[in-house]
Amino acid sequence: MSSDCLFCGIVAGQVPASLVAEGERVLAFTDINPQAPTHVLVVSREHHPDVAALAAADPPALAELVGLGQRIARDAGHSDFRLVFNTGADAGQSVFHVHGHVLAGRSFGWPPG
Ligand code: AMP
Ligand code: ZN
Repeated sequence: MSSDCLFCGIVAGQVPASLVAEGERVLAFTDINPQAPTHVLVVSREHHPDVAALAAADPPALAELVGLGQRIARDAGHSDFRLVFNTGADAGQSVFHVHGHVLAGRSFGWPPG
């Protein structure tokens, strides 16, 4: 755990969040500023700064994160979903603890803004 990390605080139960689902290595909670009818963040229980670091350190955790993201979309009634990993500040990452954005329930444009 990184003591100054917001999502480590949520994993530890020290910061409140609306939990959606849990796995052995990952945890899912609703985004505080939703951008779609379904907008859930899936994070690793262990601290990794971004998805590339997670892929290098713990591939099974990344696979579990993706699988749980699909299940969350399906359980919300959506076969199609967008799974986004902003990686680096210039790509829009603001919390440096890996999280996949599960977005579903509306259509999405491409390319992203
Ligand atoms: P990113 O900009 O890709 O790093 O995404 C960070 C996300 O975390 C944003 O979509 C925020 O709305 C969300 N967020 C920030 N603080 C919280 C919080 N306390 N609980 C839930 N989501 C949060
Ligand atoms: Zn963290």
